[in-house]
Amino acid sequence: MCGIVGYIGDRNVYDILIKGLHRLEYRGYDSAGVALETPEGKLNVYKAKGKVSNLEAFCKDKDLSASAGIAHTRWATHGEPSDHNAHPHYSQDGRLALVHNGTIENYKVLKDALMQHGCVFSTETDTEVLVQLIEYIKLRNGCTIIEAVREALNQVQGAYAIALLEKDHPEQIIAARKSSPLVIGIGDDEFFLASDATPFVEYTKEAVYVKDNEIAVLRQGEPLKLLSLEGDEEHAVDVTELQLSISQLEKGGYPHFMLKEIFEQPDTLRDCLRGRIVDGGRRIVLTGVLDNARKFLDAKRIVIVACGTSWHAGLLGKYLIQGMCKIPVEVEYASEFRYNNPVIGEGDIVIAISQSGETADTLAAIQIAREKGAFVYGISNVVGSSIPRETHSGTYIHVGPEIGVASTKAFTGQVLVLTMLALCVANLRGTITEEESNELGEWILKLPDIVKEVLGLNDSIKHLSAIYTYARNFLYLGRGYNYPTALEGALKLKEISYIHAEGYPAAEMKHGPIALIDAEMPSVIVAPVDHLYEKIVSNVQQVKARGGSIIAIVSKGDKVISKIADHVLEVPAVPECLTPIVTSIPMQLLSYYIAINKGKDVDMPRNLAKSVTVE
Ligand code: GLU
Repeated sequence: MCGIVGYIGDRNVYDILIKGLHRLEYRGYDSAGVALETPEGKLNVYKAKGKVSNLEAFCKDKDLSASAGIAHTRWATHGEPSDHNAHPHYSQDGRLALVHNGTIENYKVLKDALMQHGCVFSTETDTEVLVQLIEYIKLRNGCTIIEAVREALNQVQGAYAIALLEKDHPEQIIAARKSSPLVIGIGDDEFFLASDATPFVEYTKEAVYVKDNEIAVLRQGEPLKLLSLEGDEEHAVDVTELQLSISQLEKGGYPHFMLKEIFEQPDTLRDCLRGRIVDGGRRIVLTGVLDNARKFLDAKRIVIVACGTSWHAGLLGKYLIQGMCKIPVEVEYASEFRYNNPVIGEGDIVIAISQSGETADTLAAIQIAREKGAFVYGISNVVGSSIPRETHSGTYIHVGPEIGVASTKAFTGQVLVLTMLALCVANLRGTITEEESNELGEWILKLPDIVKEVLGLNDSIKHLSAIYTYARNFLYLGRGYNYPTALEGALKLKEISYIHAEGYPAAEMKHGPIALIDAEMPSVIVAPVDHLYEKIVSNVQQVKARGGSIIAIVSKGDKVISKIADHVLEVPAVPECLTPIVTSIPMQLLSYYIAINKGKDVDMPRNLAKSVTVE
């Protein structure tokens, strides 16, 4: 979490940093700050609690001249969100200013040692330890700033992406990373740096993804230098061409990114499908799978690791893969998997799912799986992010930048990729007939249009949301493929409206949660026509019998549940394994409108950040 931006060059440094911070605000918005170095070498730091707009207001009457600058938008891990804990942090003598994304795990030990040497700390953050340590080493050794950074980072345990300015050295920015993302943009006699490429996409398409344990030296008028953290060795600079466009980063007339992203789904699903389901649905071309066909043919087991919404997509992946490929599948929270002595090895496939491709726990899980000899397959959205680089193979979901903190189009993209993966593997293994595969392929190709039709429910959902905005609690129930969908529906509501919501397999109700049902506890029941339809009808009746109100998401033409439920949202009937993509759309819209009715900031919900790059 946390967003970092840096710039050195002839443009207006402050403007670039502020615009960049706005683009990265999805990563955290507890506080924001900038450090600006004037061409004469004066180092000014300005910071403010809250969103980037607060920082802008604070900076109104300040000296904003600069030839180099670094900036930060924070998602606090150590120390409350406050003005003084905001980054950048000065070193004690005010000669260094540093921004950091990540966590320094041994900060306490380092802090105690530095305090014994007379170092005075002015914040509660782990980050301040880094800047004080660099200053201490520089003064003690009388060495260059690069040597001090190298020695300091070698003492640090944890994750970091940092950028550093030194007083009297307006000609350079030093940056480094380990387990937190950092990308450099190379312009014409100028450099940008950021947590992802969005802050500089309109200025340059040339990007360099800094690797773990690399120090980057950005000096105007000189080529980019990448140094090894271990020694003096200089690394080759690997330039990637960015595929991002600026229009993808704007709201395009919608009041919020979340609504824009919900409505983009017909297009994003089409982009996700492109070139992967061909010949009218008869061929599935998922190169990440086909190039590694042997691994999927021999797989004894698949373990899916993910967090949050991606974990819900992963749970659907289990239903899809087990159903079509007859391979046992386990789904683990990456944060649990990594610390639970996972029994994994050769012959196992680990599928890691993360929208950002930077989720810290998922990356750690990947590393463990690789060390134990598993074949690791990544599913992510952000091209060039860490997960695609750390995995043996994988598939991008290609849904474009997702900026709303609550994931919508990335979820349906992940589910679609998992559906194609299951179908592709089932074809390889011969666990599906040609006829079944062709039929499913044809249906998948129709999904973008079907989702478009579902979005036609927008007005009725908006209206419905007004009736339920009062609720303090919600239940989301589903069975089979629509149990993970119900979990995801509940998560969406929690994230952006702060209403407590629980997702449950509908049949589990009678083992506890049914006790919660009364007139004040609405339930969203996801019940399209599938092989469990008759079963869920009884569950719906059980809720009704206890006075609970019901919003049912059913297939068009439903005759039974639509008579029992208080409100019905009809979606087109599709094959059972494709229902989650269709039924999740009304739940996204319902959460959106309930949150709007409650006056919540849906794109930046409290306490959350989009890309969870800390443990
Ligand atoms: N640990 C730092 C802080 O609390 C940075 C947090 C982050 O990157 O999320 O200020």
